[in-house]
Amino acid sequence: MKNEYFYKNPKTLLNKGTGFLSGYTHSLNPYTGCTFGCSYCYVRQLPVSTFRKEAWGTWVDIKNQAADILRKELRRAKSKGKVTIFMSSSTDPYQPIEYKEEVTRSLLEVMLEDPPDFLLVQTRSPLVRRDADLLLRLEDRVRVSMTIETDREDIRKHFTPDAPPIQARFKTLQLLKEAGVPAQATIAPILPSSEHFADKLWPLVNRVCIDDYFMGDGSGGRRTRSLNIGALYESLGLEDWYHPTAYKMVYERFLHVFPEEQLHMSKEGFLP
Ligand code: SF4
Repeated sequence: MKNEYFYKNPKTLLNKGTGFLSGYTHSLNPYTGCTFGCSYCYVRQLPVSTFRKEAWGTWVDIKNQAADILRKELRRAKSKGKVTIFMSSSTDPYQPIEYKEEVTRSLLEVMLEDPPDFLLVQTRSPLVRRDADLLLRLEDRVRVSMTIETDREDIRKHFTPDAPPIQARFKTLQLLKEAGVPAQATIAPILPSSEHFADKLWPLVNRVCIDDYFMGDGSGGRRTRSLNIGALYESLGLEDWYHPTAYKMVYERFLHVFPEEQLHMSKEGFLP
């Protein structure tokens, strides 16, 4: 299906950090909508999507003048106190349209002029490495959180066929490490993975965040349950992985490779 792109003139960009993001003062979404369209993405059930006629994953609103708006908002927010930003909570800031539009890059440029106290860049896209030059200049005020829910490409294709290949995400973590950009691997939501997953990440990161549908969707798993994700697990004969205790097995496997202090669970793993 062909994706549709719209240009919008937002009034504001920074939103208050609430709920799962209450550890942040603000969230920041350079786009509305996301063409990665992951099967388990519960944003499709939020008002931002349900009021649209197009299906989630097939449309993106591109925010005009985003840098100018952020510049003003950031100045105002910083005058009131500490500013910690989660980018992004309901879109991927490095989805394919960012190659051309560079909205996210323009926001990073603003943040270099007037740095927030902390910025978490949440993405699953190798495009983030394009901006390593800017991220590096934010020094320890930034962390890239690279979603890598599994090391199995066959599983990735079942659950997120339009998202970047797993191997490209490993490679991106390697390049970020070589560039000196702080990064973590974010296994969220946990998908069925091999027993070698931790060994593959060990040379690349010193921080891992693990989360699942039941802890991480903000509703005890209800939101993802209503997407009927369980049926996908069943069709693959992997229903054991769709369970509130499945994360324990992954955590145990990682504990054999990573020190405990490098492993973080759910909300805590995303904190500044
Ligand atoms: S990348 Fe994130 S925002 Fe985009 S569809 Fe997937 S889960 Fe949703």
